Amino acid sequence: MSAARGASRGPELAREALSAIRVYEGATRMCRMDLSDNTSQWGIPPSLAALLGAGGGADFNRYPGPYGRDLKNAIASYVGVDADAIVTGCGSDDVLDSTIRAFGEKGETLAHLDPSFGMIPVFASVSRLRPLGIPISAGPEQYAKTGARIIYLCSPNNPTGTTLSRDYIERVVESAPGLVIIDEAYAEFTADSMIDLTTRYDNVIVTRTFSKAFGLAGLRVGYGVAAPAISREVEKVRGPYKLNALGEQAAIAVLRDDLDWMRTNVATMRENRQRFVESLRQLGLAPLPSEANFVFAPVTRALERAERLRRSGIEVRAFEGLREIGDALRISIGPWAMMRECVAALEEALR
Ligand SMILES: *Cc1c(COP(=O)(O)O)cnc(C)c1O
Repeated sequence: MSAARGASRGPELAREALSAIRVYEGATRMCRMDLSDNTSQWGIPPSLAALLGAGGGADFNRYPGPYGRDLKNAIASYVGVDADAIVTGCGSDDVLDSTIRAFGEKGETLAHLDPSFGMIPVFASVSRLRPLGIPISAGPEQYAKTGARIIYLCSPNNPTGTTLSRDYIERVVESAPGLVIIDEAYAEFTADSMIDLTTRYDNVIVTRTFSKAFGLAGLRVGYGVAAPAISREVEKVRGPYKLNALGEQAAIAVLRDDLDWMRTNVATMRENRQRFVESLRQLGLAPLPSEANFVFAPVTRALERAERLRRSGIEVRAFEGLREIGDALRISIGPWAMMRECVAALEEALR
């Protein structure tokens, strides 16, 4: 087969679902101040600096444990469940994707909060499920009515920063015909977690990540917490050795040595978020109440505003035409010096 023929036939040979899916092109631009993706603005944890400096990684010529047992033990004591409730992954993206592949049959519906995490409809489509958005204003009973095999909730929600109440989530779980995924990527920034639901219901998985509060986005470590039987199904699909050895060791180290570092940053972030929200209000915006490490503010002509911010070296995330919201900007919260600069640039961009 000639190279040219191979190149043109490539896409045709792929699963049909892929023709409607584009490669994700986020976060590749270089900029001075990146407030677009909610990763930590407080650098890598001290434990990682120590791990890298102190001859850490001497055994990186060997495979890590197949399913990250040491990390499972560390996470289990951090979240207060048994280690066999945990499934780890190459970022929580991997846990979400593996869960959808494990529990979704072709042609079935995945009902998801809308707007919410943009990868969910993509994972659903790739697995040949039908993604169906449920608006934020809908009552909890709307999810079960779709007959969805998988329901996806996110709290605090990306991109709005808002939370769903415990009562709302429990009502979704109790009426769900299938599995309910509760994405808690931003759990460390808020008080209420739904981890306890995983010990009371056998159709719930809570996913979490080391990419946001823990400052390890580049090392790709995430996990799910569920009834052990659910976690094993996800693990079957995920496969062994998915978590790299450095990521595993770094996540163990941060849970052991840097919880105070993380909590101090979270406390500072919350103060800065409050100040930033007040500044946005003074600029005439009405940001939504956020329980995450970012602020979400509806604006007109979001893409144009983001482009103007980019010209001053500040990257934020712009959204167009979101359901029940319209255009909006999502801005990560960092040290105050950054936020002050961002406010000044926003004032220009909003003119
Ligand atoms: C950032 C984010 C993730 C993905 O995190 P990784 O662990 O880096 O893959 C998952 N869900 C939500 C809602 C997020 O915002």
